[in-house]
Amino acid sequence: MTFNPDADISNHRVRKSGRGAKVAGGAVGVGGIIALILALVTGGDFSQLLPMLGGSDTQEQAEPSGGTGLEKCQTGEDANTDDDCRLAGATLVLDSFWEQNVSGYSAPEMVIVEGSTSTPCGTASNAAGPFYCPSNQTVYIDPTFWQLMRDQFGASAGNLAQIYVLAHEWGHHVQYIKGVMRDHPNNGSGPDSNGVRTELQADCYAGAWVAHASEQKDDNGQTYMKAPTEAELVDALNAASAVGDDNIQKQSGGFVNPESWTHGSSEQRQRWFATGYQYGVGACNTFDVSGADL
Ligand SMILES: [Zn+2]
Repeated sequence: MTFNPDADISNHRVRKSGRGAKVAGGAVGVGGIIALILALVTGGDFSQLLPMLGGSDTQEQAEPSGGTGLEKCQTGEDANTDDDCRLAGATLVLDSFWEQNVSGYSAPEMVIVEGSTSTPCGTASNAAGPFYCPSNQTVYIDPTFWQLMRDQFGASAGNLAQIYVLAHEWGHHVQYIKGVMRDHPNNGSGPDSNGVRTELQADCYAGAWVAHASEQKDDNGQTYMKAPTEAELVDALNAASAVGDDNIQKQSGGFVNPESWTHGSSEQRQRWFATGYQYGVGACNTFDVSGADL
């Protein structure tokens, strides 16, 4: 899913934050992977385990002095050639869509994490995986997560797959604005828990946005993005599948235990993404269907 090269993305508000970049060749250590799997399966933050697991060789680095660290992201061309700018550009396309679809919408903050950074929701790093923090309405993504998706979950993590992950996190922000988390509080894990319904709705919202992303326009009336190709849609569905709890449990060597699911199965995540893509935001009624239809 590519951007129109002359689209204007210069008014994005994404910033970089972090201290400590991975050393040892930039590879993600096994400790990071274990912590990531635990985080994805349980929703918790296990990055504090990293020293024990031997995976957190980090180096202190100075914060970027002033600025956002992403002034380089000015045009659609930048978004097509740079992973950080792709995310920065996509935030504008997401906000444009959701402003039209949710009354009282206000854009979340977005931070691209380098190494790790502390947040009101715990430490953000590739070990924690991408997440949305409701208490400061901020999305955190560490782009090294893409390589981890490729290596550990067999996903190709191409352009649209990356944008799908971002759109899923934006979906959680929309849920926050709509009061979904307040109306359907955490009632534990399990295949038809509120947690799984919340996650599948965020997948559905991501699909609804992808279907209309190419209609969103910048301040000059130029559309930001081109419509996704079939191959890109397959790639995004592949990503949705790869981060299904059943796949993560299999990849991590465990048996598939639906009672510990917090995100939904691979099949469910693909199906709800496709439901949003085909039928729109109104069809994302994951809290209204029975457990059998979820
Ligand atoms: Zn989620």
